[in-house]
Amino acid sequence: MRVTLVWAMAESAGQKLAQQLKAIVGNNGWISDPTELAPHLTEWRDRVRGNALLMVSPNTVDQVAAVVRACADAEVVVVAQGGNTGMCAGAVPDESGEQVLLNLGRLNRIRQVDPLDYSMVVEAGCILADVQAEAQRNGRLFPLSLGGEGSCQIGGNVSTNAGGINVLRYGTMRDLVLGLEVVLADGSVWNGLKSLRKDTAGYDLKQLFIGSEGTLGVITAATLKLFPRPGEITSAMLAVRTATDAVRLLAEMRERLPDRIQAFELIGERAMCYVLEHIPATRLPFAQHSPWYVLIDLDLAGGVDQLAGLLEPLSDRGLVADAVVAKNNAEREALWRLRHSISEAERHEGGGIKHDISVPVGALHEFLVCAEQSLARQVPVAIPVVFGHVGDGNLHYNVHLPENVPNADRGGLSAQVTESIYQLVKRMGGSISAEHGIGVLKRDALEQFSDPQDLRLMRAVKKALDPQDILNRGKVI
Ligand SMILES: Cc1cc2nc3c(=O)[nH]c(=O)nc-3n(C[C@H](O)[C@H](O)[C@H](O)COP(=O)(O)OP(=O)(O)OC[C@H]3O[C@@H](n4cnc5c(N)ncnc54)[C@H](O)[C@@H]3O)c2cc1C
Repeated sequence: MRVTLVWAMAESAGQKLAQQLKAIVGNNGWISDPTELAPHLTEWRDRVRGNALLMVSPNTVDQVAAVVRACADAEVVVVAQGGNTGMCAGAVPDESGEQVLLNLGRLNRIRQVDPLDYSMVVEAGCILADVQAEAQRNGRLFPLSLGGEGSCQIGGNVSTNAGGINVLRYGTMRDLVLGLEVVLADGSVWNGLKSLRKDTAGYDLKQLFIGSEGTLGVITAATLKLFPRPGEITSAMLAVRTATDAVRLLAEMRERLPDRIQAFELIGERAMCYVLEHIPATRLPFAQHSPWYVLIDLDLAGGVDQLAGLLEPLSDRGLVADAVVAKNNAEREALWRLRHSISEAERHEGGGIKHDISVPVGALHEFLVCAEQSLARQVPVAIPVVFGHVGDGNLHYNVHLPENVPNADRGGLSAQVTESIYQLVKRMGGSISAEHGIGVLKRDALEQFSDPQDLRLMRAVKKALDPQDILNRGKVI
């Protein structure tokens, strides 16, 4: 009897909050219908499913602030959600059905573009591809580029410190954000929308929120750094024999073309084979397969000819086994399709066990050799599917298990695979999360593989900014 009473009270408190939130965001600003809610309650690979009291989509900063304040007063958890393309289920509420999902998609105005200042101010719900296009219309470049750019939002990019394919030249979101506007855990608004290149007045507060995955504040707008548009981009795919050759190649090209290398991506043979097998209209641009491929984008005045001249001596020295240079946009897109389709191709193979790790660039080859040896010893059936961003020391070291491995054994083997890879990463001074964040899927791993002092400091920051623990509870730490 008592249990029923307590439950009934909780339900009515939840319903009261729901009514309050609906009034704040107005008729078009909320969803409670289960069918409409469903895609927002799971991550894109459907590995985690949650539930929500309500999803609200405010379209002004004041509404976001009022939503967070109401949730803080009711001590109800708020989960911020952007495009929900994150890889670690950070934007999905837990299963309780008591958390409020705060979707930022309607807060999507471009507030200002200042070509002279090389900056723009955009709201959190702007889609990354739209931001790139707006910068382009104003004769500037916003260089963040990644596979999910047609759906992910700037708020999500900031909150995950997104990286992508151009980090080598332009850096991650930490380097691309000049200022932020953030709704704090008590519903107040911190206006840090500066566009300063230099500012040593105290702590750099914006950096606390970048990469915090919705656990320290709800980002409502960002001042982004813009760049001159590059000249014509020349793309090429190179076949190389070892990952060490890829690293050497990068070092040599950087010396010859300082600041001209826009992207330098590594693709392992298995990843390439999955793409060729599962993705329509793809083909290997070489006569023969190779253990590794490198896909490069270069900002070169001399285009194809200059690149050919550059590659010749590298090829003579055996660093490049074969090379194709895209002669037009269609060829360029075909090369990039091979790279961008890897995640989708992996899904056709059952997904795999994902690891988004980084190690010092010079240690990439050693990592690959040791990881393969360690897997061969501990989980001989494991099939590594590797690709990544060489210049950032960031590998997506994914591991697939053959179809004939019984379901009952998969969980245990996956845990063994991940433990072996993360131990190696730790030994080599690397990170278990290079660009996808922690969310809920890597929370235990962060606890296990981080320096205790790091964790202590992170908890202190969380406690200071969100003492009630209402922002994305249960994520990151
Ligand atoms: C095909 C594909 C390729 C990808 N390639 C890359 C890649 O190369 N590099 C890379 O870094 N990522 C990559 N990603 C991952 C993903 O796109 C990025 O992590 C992206 O930054 C997430 O943005 P989102 O808007 O989808 O955020 P969501 O998934 O909605 O949220 C991610 C996290 O940020 C929080 N959050 C979202 N919005 C806000 C906000 N306004 N305020 C506070 N917290 C917020 C959420 O609570 C959650 O913890 C890829 C994804 C896909 C599907």
